[in-house]
Amino acid sequence: MLTDQWQEYERSLSSGARLSSCEKCWIEEDLGFVSRRQDLNNLYNDVKVAAIHDLEIALDFGCNMMCWACRPRFSTKWAAANDLVQELNSKSLDIEKSVEDVRSQHSFYKEKIWQLINNTDLSSLRYLRLVGGEPLLSPRLEPFLNLIEEKANPSQITLMITTNSSVFPSAEVLEKLSRFKTVEIRCSVDAVGELAELIRPPSPWQKIEGTFKEWAKAAEAFDNIDLGIHCTLSLLNLERLHELLSWFSQYPKFEWQKAVLRGPEYLIPWLIPLKARTEMYLANKTVIDAFELANVFLAEPVINIQEDHLAEKSVAFLDTLSAYHGASFEKLCPVTYGLLQSQVGASPLLTSSQAR
Ligand code: SF4
Repeated sequence: MLTDQWQEYERSLSSGARLSSCEKCWIEEDLGFVSRRQDLNNLYNDVKVAAIHDLEIALDFGCNMMCWACRPRFSTKWAAANDLVQELNSKSLDIEKSVEDVRSQHSFYKEKIWQLINNTDLSSLRYLRLVGGEPLLSPRLEPFLNLIEEKANPSQITLMITTNSSVFPSAEVLEKLSRFKTVEIRCSVDAVGELAELIRPPSPWQKIEGTFKEWAKAAEAFDNIDLGIHCTLSLLNLERLHELLSWFSQYPKFEWQKAVLRGPEYLIPWLIPLKARTEMYLANKTVIDAFELANVFLAEPVINIQEDHLAEKSVAFLDTLSAYHGASFEKLCPVTYGLLQSQVGASPLLTSSQAR
């Protein structure tokens, strides 16, 4: 564990350096959010022994969705969309070059990660995060939970599962989850209704909401289930974020978590000009303030939008994904789309009509 590179990281961080690889946390802290870095430092303040206390792991990348902000490397459904990936590549958008490579990486990963888990001492584990793919769809979920029982003590572990809220676990899996100290279920929800269906296809919103309600019932039945929403803020949802916030206000007992999308850069929220974000904020100030999100709407852009043709890339991406899914981002978020189009310069990477 203590390689030279790791020790160098430790030295730099102890001296207060802001490493570029930690940029996501610095940006969140500058916005006044609690970053993952701060979260973990609080959690492990007292830990002195070199052992695995915290593990974040994907059992595989099987997923039934292809969210717009996701990529083939994280979702088998995206990795199956060869034609779409090729089309995006042909428009200079930042997508994997070859889905065949991604698929073979998925197979390699699946095989190796299982060997690795089997050969790792997990007896000191206190925090376990399951990510994906969609972890609740993985055929390895139940065997993995059995393995944790053999190699660690679930009653001392906080297990976090990030789920797309389209799958509810079997009674057997629920029973195994009940043995953990705490199970933090974080449903990734970035929008409600038709916008949710557009940017996190292909699950109908009714299904996502229905699964969330099932989790809400499970949280009543099992003391150790801590339910929450994890929302990623991007230009895909800022214009209609108030709808999600109003919906989630019905569930005041449950946790609200947010992160700001950092990549791909052509989907970051700061591509919407500050003036327009300020208007969006003022139109729904009460609910946005209740969730302490004013900074996202009122912050100056943290990147140079012109330099990388980001507005052009953004319009090309939105048009291509809309056409692929037979829907229209322009119709659902007309302000955002119109503003992006108006930023397409005189020598654009692509004109919007080329991208259609
Ligand atoms: S549910 Fe998660 S893994 Fe699946 S496509 Fe969406 S973001 Fe990617």
